[in-house]
Amino acid sequence: FTTEAGLYTASDQIVILTPDNVDSVLVNSTAALVVEFYASWCGHCVAFSPEWKRLARDIKEWKPAVDLAAIDCAYEDNGPICSRFGVKGYPTLKFFHAYSKPDSKGQGFREGPRDVRGLRHKIIEKMETHEEPWPPACPPLETASKAEIDNFFETNSVEHLALIFETSNSYVGREVTLDLLQYENIAVRRVLRTEDALVAKLGVTDFPSCYLYYPSGNFTRLHVQNEARTFYTYALQRLPGVLRAGKPPPVTSDLLKNTTEDQWRPFNRSRVYMADLESTLHYSLRLELAAHPVIKGEALSALQRYISVLAKYFPGRPLVRNLLKSVDTWLKGQNDTELSYSSLRDVLDNTAEVPDAALPDGVRWVGCQGSKPHFRRYPCGMWTLFHVLTVQANEAAGKDPQEVLQAMRSYIHSFFGCQACSTHFENMAKESMSYVGTLSTAVLWLWSRHNHVNNRLAGALSEDPHFPKIQWPSPELCPSCHGVKKSGEHTWNQEELLTFLRSHFSSEHLLSDYLE
Ligand code: FAD
Repeated sequence: FTTEAGLYTASDQIVILTPDNVDSVLVNSTAALVVEFYASWCGHCVAFSPEWKRLARDIKEWKPAVDLAAIDCAYEDNGPICSRFGVKGYPTLKFFHAYSKPDSKGQGFREGPRDVRGLRHKIIEKMETHEEPWPPACPPLETASKAEIDNFFETNSVEHLALIFETSNSYVGREVTLDLLQYENIAVRRVLRTEDALVAKLGVTDFPSCYLYYPSGNFTRLHVQNEARTFYTYALQRLPGVLRAGKPPPVTSDLLKNTTEDQWRPFNRSRVYMADLESTLHYSLRLELAAHPVIKGEALSALQRYISVLAKYFPGRPLVRNLLKSVDTWLKGQNDTELSYSSLRDVLDNTAEVPDAALPDGVRWVGCQGSKPHFRRYPCGMWTLFHVLTVQANEAAGKDPQEVLQAMRSYIHSFFGCQACSTHFENMAKESMSYVGTLSTAVLWLWSRHNHVNNRLAGALSEDPHFPKIQWPSPELCPSCHGVKKSGEHTWNQEELLTFLRSHFSSEHLLSDYLE
């Protein structure tokens, strides 16, 4: 039995309960938990599982206060646990407050809508009425009064206080409060429209709207494209001095100092650099592949696909494109069932001296520079390379919509040095890559999977504090990509996104600074 056997995997950000961990997860936890008891054979459970996964991604930032879990009651070893909690039908949702006792059966979570928004609101209600002891990581969720705000900075040492003015039936204030709970130097409070004195003092006319309030008594309205949760959250996480808790504060001068090997190269964060793409090719072809002295079987076909899409779509300088084409031609002419890396290396280094063909040696990271040598670089280059290739295939009206994605999938599977990355990527590919039926869907598929990874890695140790993982592109980078539904839920405008991605990763838009 593995934890991957049921409807959820470890990449879903859902705690998978087993006989071994159930007590340590549910009993005396500092966070509340909402548990889904399901049976993997039950059709309703299968239908509900994508919503539960979406919810897990949507409230990922709330984890220290409230987390999601799931248990497959159809797995025999789990049966006694499901009976212990009195579960008779599937799926059953139960709320376990923080510091639950060993004999707790959890509270019912039955009525109400089963979509992300409805479930999220229900969780907020449960958290608001949470009995003592309160989960220590959960910020206050009740409404703030003028008296509290007047004295706020006497008892709180944060730089920013964000006030969300709203009506009593709005959840936005509480959602944003929880979205920011892992961030330091900022507090969020909701203020009701009926709090006349504060509304009058700040001259608030729109509900919801967000104001930043400072110790001096000054205040300014937070300007956002839409008065909705996601837009407030994006903007507040990016305020100066606001940083994810537990991360060392980024020191700007760090970036300007010489790192161990390289001079910092100033660059425009909203652009893509050819130097990163060439550095990625160098690293992948000359270092990563070199770890495979003999390439055969699945790995050999992975290499062929990879080189083939590079030769077709890499929008490089003529010199580099010629080289990639010569490698592709050479590879296609190899009839042996295996290949030695050294023979490939000779072609890469153009020892036969094909005119005007070369792949520059060495790396010069620019848009993929990290504030420390262990941040960003090659994996950043790899994502960027494949975004560029999906866009190029779309522009070139390639025949096979999955050609680039399958090349990426097999390269990552056979060669990408980060094994956990490759397992996660393969899981995502298995789940949905086969549904990609057009070249433009391929562009969007890669964008959305990359955002899945960003969601999972936000706050991880590998995140460069200077380059926080966000759901990309931000509203500043592409305002028209973002929208809100009538319900206030954030939505991506797929058409605008596609236009944006096609331009952002287009060959005309690539910058050639720092090329040798
Ligand atoms: P990256 O995520 O590398 O992104 C590079 C640049 O692409 C960003 O700066 C931004 O300009 C742009 N971008 C960001 N999001 C998107 C998007 N959705 N669509 C288009 N462009 C975007 N690390 C792990 O720790 N665990 C893993 O499981 C893992 N899996 C990976 C799987 C693959 C296939 C790859 C290539 C990398 C994986 N990594 C994983 C590495 C991780 O995703 C990052 O690449 C790495 O942490 C460097 O992050 P970064 O800040 O440079 O941004």
